[in-house]
Amino acid sequence: MGRIGFTTTIPVEIIYAAGKVPVDLNNVFVTHPNPEELLCQAEKRGFPRNSCAWIKGIYSALMGLGDVDCIIGVVEGDCSNTRALLEVLELEGIDYVPFSYPRTRNEKRLKEEIDSLMRAFGVDYKRVMEIKGEIDMVRRKVQYLDELTYKYNKVSGFENHLWQVSCSDFEGDYREYGAKVDALTVEAEKRAEFTQPVRLGYVGVPPVFPEIYQFVEEHGARIVFNEVQRQFTLAPGGFDRDIYQAYRDFTYPYSLEDRLQDIRAEISNRGIDGIIHYTQAFCFRGIEDIVVKERIDTPVLMIEGDRPGGLDARTKLRIESFIEMLHDLK
Ligand code: SF4
Repeated sequence: MGRIGFTTTIPVEIIYAAGKVPVDLNNVFVTHPNPEELLCQAEKRGFPRNSCAWIKGIYSALMGLGDVDCIIGVVEGDCSNTRALLEVLELEGIDYVPFSYPRTRNEKRLKEEIDSLMRAFGVDYKRVMEIKGEIDMVRRKVQYLDELTYKYNKVSGFENHLWQVSCSDFEGDYREYGAKVDALTVEAEKRAEFTQPVRLGYVGVPPVFPEIYQFVEEHGARIVFNEVQRQFTLAPGGFDRDIYQAYRDFTYPYSLEDRLQDIRAEISNRGIDGIIHYTQAFCFRGIEDIVVKERIDTPVLMIEGDRPGGLDARTKLRIESFIEMLHDLK
């Protein structure tokens, strides 16, 4: 079976319906045994040092895989850097199928995009919806893991991040992924509850340093909400809806206001004391912090990551002080 790479969450049901294996290139980069080496390879190829590590990592991850049939390039609704990346990949002889999330969330345009993707992979709506029904069952299991995180305090912030972020491609086999989620659920339900008093939300793109989750847990807090990762599960409303509506409800590629509504609702739903807003160095989304701080009443700490390799001393200190402040406020 051919493998199909992509750079951000796309309607993965279409790839599975075509009998192909989806590969989220972000996951290949961040789980690589030596992600720093991937960044160096991209910089040797000419990617600027002051460009986003995810773009460079995706490039080298893809070049290293070697057996990807083509990639789906999200040319609208993700990131302007992706457009430049696609041009480089074209130069390298890699085929890509374009896909867009219309910025205006226009229903008709999104339907045209999804229909076009189905045509490109030779699948029809009926088959895609059959697969979606099966995948939604797995998404429901992951949604329960999320509940085990914030309602029952049995799943760690890192696990919550990992199992939700991996719903972009379900590690290439959603049935096997569902079985792994079942096994974790059985084990997690037997655990003692986490007792950290401060509850945090994590907002923004997934971190380049996943060590942050353990760090906050060692300092009296827990991340009980991973905003974008949860969106990757389509949990906010994508179950039992047709594929067009499900990917219209998905907030990440649309306006910041759409995301803020979701964030505010979850702050209240999950009893969150403070928000960590993560931004990636050289990413346009860093500017959004101005709006995030203005439009969220809960205290917000903005942190920035650049390359994999753990939290730097300054970021650690800022997180510690933030947790202490929230602790005193309680
Ligand atoms: S972190 Fe920002 S710049 Fe980097 S790929 Fe994501 S959206 Fe683009």
